[in-house]
Amino acid sequence: MLGLMMHAPLRVAALLEHAAKWHADTEIVSRLPEGGLFRYTYAAADARARRLAGALGRLGVQPGDRVGTLAWNTHRHFELYYGVAGIGAVCHTINPRLFAEQLVYIINHARDRVIFFDSTFLPLAEKLAPHCPHVEEWILLAGPEHLPATTTLPGLRSYEALLAPEMADYEWPTFDENTACSLCYTSGTTDQPKGVLYSHRSTVLHALAISLPDALGCSALDVVLPVVPMFHVNAWGFPYMAPLNGAKLVLPGPGLDGASLFELFESEKVTFSAGVPTIWLGLLQFMRQSGHRFSTLKRTVVGGSACPPALMEAFESELGVTIRHAWGMTETSPLGTAGVLKANQLALPLADQKAVLQKQGRVLFGVDMKIVDDAGQALPHDGVAFGDLLVRGPWVVGDYYGDPNPGHLTADGWFRTGDVATIDAAGFMQITDRSKDVIKSGGEWISSIELENLAVGHPAVAEAAVIGVASRKWAERPLLIVVRRPSHEVSAEELLAFFEGKVARFWEPDAVEFVDQLPHTATGKLLKTQLRKDFAGYEVP
Ligand code: ADP
Repeated sequence: MLGLMMHAPLRVAALLEHAAKWHADTEIVSRLPEGGLFRYTYAAADARARRLAGALGRLGVQPGDRVGTLAWNTHRHFELYYGVAGIGAVCHTINPRLFAEQLVYIINHARDRVIFFDSTFLPLAEKLAPHCPHVEEWILLAGPEHLPATTTLPGLRSYEALLAPEMADYEWPTFDENTACSLCYTSGTTDQPKGVLYSHRSTVLHALAISLPDALGCSALDVVLPVVPMFHVNAWGFPYMAPLNGAKLVLPGPGLDGASLFELFESEKVTFSAGVPTIWLGLLQFMRQSGHRFSTLKRTVVGGSACPPALMEAFESELGVTIRHAWGMTETSPLGTAGVLKANQLALPLADQKAVLQKQGRVLFGVDMKIVDDAGQALPHDGVAFGDLLVRGPWVVGDYYGDPNPGHLTADGWFRTGDVATIDAAGFMQITDRSKDVIKSGGEWISSIELENLAVGHPAVAEAAVIGVASRKWAERPLLIVVRRPSHEVSAEELLAFFEGKVARFWEPDAVEFVDQLPHTATGKLLKTQLRKDFAGYEVP
């Protein structure tokens, strides 16, 4: 028997509609790529998203068409999230930090018909356009006064000119909640980029789940500033979570350095932020040098790669800001787990509480996870056994977009994350490695992440990477590659001694190499494929 409740499909546009109606005066503040701040309200944003919807119709964009964006976190990008999805088309957020060949591949694979871009990316758009034959319109996310005097982009027009003739009375259509709303490609660290096609249903459920107190915990009292880019897994859902809760939304544009972020945190009274560890390391350095302190910022979410314990410690003790560790990936919308203590853990000694919070956290309702061995057998939740992490749930990818070889799930319907993890008795998951980064020494696994975390705890280490190198005796042994902090000295011997007593003896790295910088992916992660190439001939006994 079916229930007799109203049939009300979940829709992305309903999030903004809700904020416009019930949090009409709550502000969205956006730093513009051309300079200066733009300030308006949810009511005004909703009106402009509706005008955009009208304009997209006039451009001939049909439901299901892909509309690309090459843009920072700004109010216009926010309007695209809603205007495009609202008409049943697909907002394809493109990561401008990828290599040009990858961008061409992604744009052609998605068959984007229109691409909206920030003025920062004009040279990039001009470079890409000749290789993207399916793109019919390139539109500059600015007013007509910012159109370049000359450009190779045919018929380039401005976003504001496009919106100008439109009315704000556009009525959002309703459709099946499983309709696609946005598309995001994985950064391709290990393979060709793959498209993850989110639905209205998955997006709204994810926004609800991440809002909960033990997830990210968002309320109408918050002022949220996602530093994580809107081209990186939908800024972890912040552009959906903020209107759902009626939280003020602050969008930092291209200003992601410590000084620019600090200025915006203070001037807009930000309470809550989110970003990858690299961003917070940069901000911490700025705060230490300048001596400034936050007056409103209470907490921040760190994810994308493991949060170094030293960073968590410094934020808490020096800056009074709580770091909440979260794990996820493009394929999981992205949030799967968040690190928040349970009641009985509050009785633990402080050091033990901190150890729990350094793990990647426990699952949100909606996501299920397990760890399995090479034969696919489930491993115990004892915090020691580690194996391949599998997840499933309504906001986890089923198939990749346009994949000629679909069918990536296990026979019983789980998604293989490519991460290797432990799960403890309290349900806290800890990533020990990407499966491709695990070091296998004499048949035993060594966690490169744990060694990296320890290394950055040394005062002279700015950044560290650990990779497996060839060993005659053990097949593979850990090599520590280090970037020293400016004006700090430390020798290889001192660093090796630093590990003694902190990890099992056979985990201690065999050698140290110093470099000026480490290679990173477009989303700021260590590019270990490159390091493995750089140190390909390296051998230890
Ligand atoms: P890609 O898979 O292309 O690198 P994603 O942004 O989807 O791009 O990255 C997801 C991966 O990032 C996860 O599978 C995991 O390895 C890593 N990751 C994400 N969050 C964390 C975290 N909190 N701690 C450790 N690793 C993380």
